[in-house]
Amino acid sequence: MISHLARSIAESPTLRLNEEARLLRERGEPVIHLGIGEPKNKAPLAAILGSAAKLLSGDVKYTPTDGLPSLKKAILRYTEENYDRIVAPENVIVSDGAKQAIFNILYAICNPQDEVIVLAPYWVSYPEMVRMVQAVPVIVTPEDGSFVPRFEEIERAVSSSTRAILLNSPNNPSGAVFPEELVAKLVAFCEKRGIWLVCDDLYHKLVFDGKVAVPAWRHSTADVDRSKVVVVNGVSKVYGMTGFRIGWVVAGRELVRVLTNIQAQTTSCAPTICQAAAEGALTGVQSGVEALRLTIQNNRDVLLQELRSFEGVKIRKPEGTFYALPDFRVCRMGSEEMSNLLLRRAMVVTVPGVEFGMEGHLRLSVSGSVKEITEGVERMKWALDPSSPNEIWIGERKLLRDWL
Ligand code: PMP
Repeated sequence: MISHLARSIAESPTLRLNEEARLLRERGEPVIHLGIGEPKNKAPLAAILGSAAKLLSGDVKYTPTDGLPSLKKAILRYTEENYDRIVAPENVIVSDGAKQAIFNILYAICNPQDEVIVLAPYWVSYPEMVRMVQAVPVIVTPEDGSFVPRFEEIERAVSSSTRAILLNSPNNPSGAVFPEELVAKLVAFCEKRGIWLVCDDLYHKLVFDGKVAVPAWRHSTADVDRSKVVVVNGVSKVYGMTGFRIGWVVAGRELVRVLTNIQAQTTSCAPTICQAAAEGALTGVQSGVEALRLTIQNNRDVLLQELRSFEGVKIRKPEGTFYALPDFRVCRMGSEEMSNLLLRRAMVVTVPGVEFGMEGHLRLSVSGSVKEITEGVERMKWALDPSSPNEIWIGERKLLRDWL
């Protein structure tokens, strides 16, 4: 028997697509992956050396549940530098990626049937995670068709059962950076109403054109132990260390204590070697972060340029992250159908917008190479745009479009 709840949890579409692409590549198919948010850069040298040293010592044991003290120290410094907040070790817990951190937070703060506000377009896992803790995701979709809801729209969705608002800026999947004024209003509202504001800041340094993603904390005058602002961060995106699975939470110590109990009873602690790597990344040379940011900004510009000639496709310029969420409604197809067609016919991986609460859109990742972006969009035009030439070379094969 499988439980009703477990049975109702959807597969992660991004990980499924990743697996499909991997299998196709293994068969020698010339797949272009515009699906996954995973930069190509190698892990920072300091991260590799940090984890290698730990491994070579042979002394690889449990760490304290809330993380290696030396990594936590590095996180305290990171928090001071990036958030202007001096917090104590008791305000920090290290987890197996931001994913586990967010799940544990939801588990810690939700009773069954409580509500959590999720702003569309949203990261695919938010609604499923909320359901997994038996709470109810309340989706707020911007009425004006943009990617950032107005404060009043969010306020309207709040009820006496609301426990938290999930805020992800820079945003996966839209690339939007939320206006500072909106963030400030949300902080004031949450502090006043006693609602948690969970800030998923995983992409906070990957912003473009001189923009800054102003942290919610800047607008809270409350002491961290009293504040309703909870910060989630990690090394996956900014350092390109997705496989190390290290994220963390900075929050009031009461919440951190509960998160520690949850983690102690489930995973004990994040892997020691990976924690050593994260410490290396945070304390080592930081130039790789800026190099990655510039690469991604350039890739975004290439994508915007390539999509310009795609008839009827609209795109809002992403201000951060690895992603863009162009509007393909001109193609008059469901996003799932469109994404399947692109994978089957053109060997291009995209993620259907419906997974993020934005039907008619496709999420495209620019974390790969310029060549992948230009070729990928060329193939997409061939597959979806009737005004484009109906012949194309994909790998060794010349293909003819006969379905539009
Ligand atoms: N939050 C957002 C918005 C993400 O995009 C991701 C990864 N795709 C995560 C959390 C999970 O990050 P991690 O790999 O550190 O678990």
